[in-house]
Amino acid sequence: MKAVAIFPRAKKVELVDEPPPRLGRPTDVRMRVLDVGICGTDKELCAFKYGTPPPGADHLVIGHESLGEVLEVGAEVTRVAVGDLVVPMVRRPCAHADCLACSAGRQDFCYTGDYTERGIKERHGFMTEQVVDDERYMNVVPQALRDVGVLVEPLTIAEKALAQVQQIQQRLPWACAAAPGESRVGCHRALVLGAGPVGLLGAMALVADGYETLVYSRGAADTPRGRIVADLGATYVSADTTDVAALVRTVGGVDVVYEATGVSKLSFDVLMGLGTNGIFVFTGVPGGHATSEVDTGLLMRNLVLKNQAVLGSVNASRADFENAIADLATFRARWPRALDGVITGRFPIEAYAEPLLTPPADAIKNVIALS
Ligand code: BGC
Repeated sequence: MKAVAIFPRAKKVELVDEPPPRLGRPTDVRMRVLDVGICGTDKELCAFKYGTPPPGADHLVIGHESLGEVLEVGAEVTRVAVGDLVVPMVRRPCAHADCLACSAGRQDFCYTGDYTERGIKERHGFMTEQVVDDERYMNVVPQALRDVGVLVEPLTIAEKALAQVQQIQQRLPWACAAAPGESRVGCHRALVLGAGPVGLLGAMALVADGYETLVYSRGAADTPRGRIVADLGATYVSADTTDVAALVRTVGGVDVVYEATGVSKLSFDVLMGLGTNGIFVFTGVPGGHATSEVDTGLLMRNLVLKNQAVLGSVNASRADFENAIADLATFRARWPRALDGVITGRFPIEAYAEPLLTPPADAIKNVIALS
């Protein structure tokens, strides 16, 4: 079975031959991998900044964003059936009985740090032909979403973040007034930092949730990313023509900042300008160290006097996957062209090197297509 793997010690990325997986337990499901998305984490894995092979192995099969088709189910499987399209979750619980999060099925909040992640940390991933996993980690996707189902996992990042924003903001008068029978629209403003896949999918989720949304990114408005933003009815602000200081003057009136760049300096500069009752969500994982000066006095004063909240969010729960699947269907209905525009390239597994190691500058989401 073909698979793309990193060898962290030898520092190489290779197409390897892996034995096909078999059902081990009655709750196992075997799927044929259809699509695997490539994200910033994969590029960092291939630069050996990140990533741990399973115990005893010298390599890690990468790939954590995927869509598969169920080929075989164990005797006790009830949630999925042969032929279903499924998206597996990424994180698996730690083995500590006293980890409140993992024992509650919320390994996305694992306390111990001993969780594992498929394709990232101590478990082989999905950039291969077939995968076996427990049905509890599989999420069924409608057949109508076959061509975009691989976007479910990156969308779960926004789903988890926005569910938390909703919860946290309940501490203040937050609900937008709506006429009876109508959904609330437009009483909150959101700023998305970055127009990569996580940023664009986050922008879709925010617009669908009724936020007036701005997206700040490098590149002109008249580019594929800018056009996707415009299609959503959101506003694209180009970093080429608007510097952070000018952006921050706008941010004063923003209720939610959704960071999707991994660029810490930009993020802290924007955080300094967050307005009253604002909430700032970090989702990017900076690859290395970056130091810059921060006026901690001003930051702390703002946090207190403006009742601000700062949140970091990683990974996602089963509910976030279910919400992502439902939202993807909404996006497909509302903005078919924008949603299709997020996937910019499909490559056979043998051609993994280009999307992983030397992606074209204007690529948004590249996918390894296995069928
Ligand atoms: C994945 C998450 C994962 C995180 C940290 C992200 O790219 O989408 O599922 O938890 O990396 O490893």
